[in-house]
Amino acid sequence: MSIPVSIVKCKDYSSNEVDAAVKQAIELVGGLNANFLKGSRVLLKPNILSVSGSETGINTHPAVVQSVIKYIKDAGGEPLVADASGFVSSTNDALKISGILDVCQKEGIDAHPFTKDGFEEVQVQDGEIFKTLYVAKDVVNADFIISLPKLKTHVQAKYTGAIKNFFGVIPQKQRKHLHRMGTFKSLSAGIVDIYSVVKPDFVLMDAIVSMDGNGPSKGDLRQTGLILASPDCVALDSVVCRMIGFKDGEVLYIDGADKRNLGQSNLSKIDVVGGKLSEFNVRFKKPRIQGGNVPSFMIDFVFYLYKKEPVVDKSKCQACGYCVKVCPTSAIILDDVAHIISDDCIECYCCYEVCPHEVIDLKRSFIYKLMSKIKGRKV
Ligand code: SF4
Ligand code: SF4
Repeated sequence: MSIPVSIVKCKDYSSNEVDAAVKQAIELVGGLNANFLKGSRVLLKPNILSVSGSETGINTHPAVVQSVIKYIKDAGGEPLVADASGFVSSTNDALKISGILDVCQKEGIDAHPFTKDGFEEVQVQDGEIFKTLYVAKDVVNADFIISLPKLKTHVQAKYTGAIKNFFGVIPQKQRKHLHRMGTFKSLSAGIVDIYSVVKPDFVLMDAIVSMDGNGPSKGDLRQTGLILASPDCVALDSVVCRMIGFKDGEVLYIDGADKRNLGQSNLSKIDVVGGKLSEFNVRFKKPRIQGGNVPSFMIDFVFYLYKKEPVVDKSKCQACGYCVKVCPTSAIILDDVAHIISDDCIECYCCYEVCPHEVIDLKRSFIYKLMSKIKGRKV
């Protein structure tokens, strides 16, 4: 049986235009089963990479997120938006500045960082890089998961779309572990490991304004004018990569996901609906791949620079123990006050989020603070 991937034209982010394109894209691939969605907790996972406005093209556009929220609500589902941004950014700030928090408030639904509900350790079956992973509880507890990626190239993974969008569901330390391994191959294998524990049910891609060149944040914007949808993230990524000029097999994690039976990457077994794939072809500038030849001490320095470490103000700690209960790795010991064992901490920041007395701070490196002071930026 062929896997459907729809491609629908959408010329801009005006709500009428996006609503019509989103509905058409979903219905061309058979729609979302309203009987199943009724009363279901539906996790929408946009790509909220950084604290950037919608005009930058870095994050999934709020108009697309809003349109999918409306669709799910009309079908009787209970949507929720959650994500965790890249290691430099605060997700709360990114939700606000991206415009996504605003549309969620307008639609009366919850939007929060994954740190709010915390992380849970799960086994990775046949994992190449990870045997277990800490995964956001929002993902583990969802009845239905929808990937809402942005079409962009990527300087480490070559391309980021439906599959790579789930990189954000694990805490910072495990993400850094993958980056530190430093090769395209290991990063790709790790992306498949993460995808294998998420098992999303649907993807709808914002390819109205996309990014080529040195994405995912420093590339060039491209007016591609499309919305794509599929019940299979692997199939959608495969179609998009052909559309933008990658060769089959060039983005390793797409093939890797297929080999582990997580989806279909073979274009002869994918049914493109909404037009012929050749009609949508657009040549993207490839990214300059980084990482493979960067010495590990340089990678460690960058991580040190942007490290955010939870630190307890012991003079104010009330020993209430909330942080101990929420810590997924038992990295906090409580006697008269809370103590964090740095080596066991996976930088999920749940303790920071949960402390009712606000005595946990996220400490930045001295050099970061100095640089921020010079630039007049808030730390
Ligand atoms: S939650 Fe805050 S106040 Fe309570 S034990 Fe932890 S650090 Fe102390
Ligand atoms: S100490 Fe805090 S940041 Fe570290 S793993 Fe525990 S809850 Fe997460």
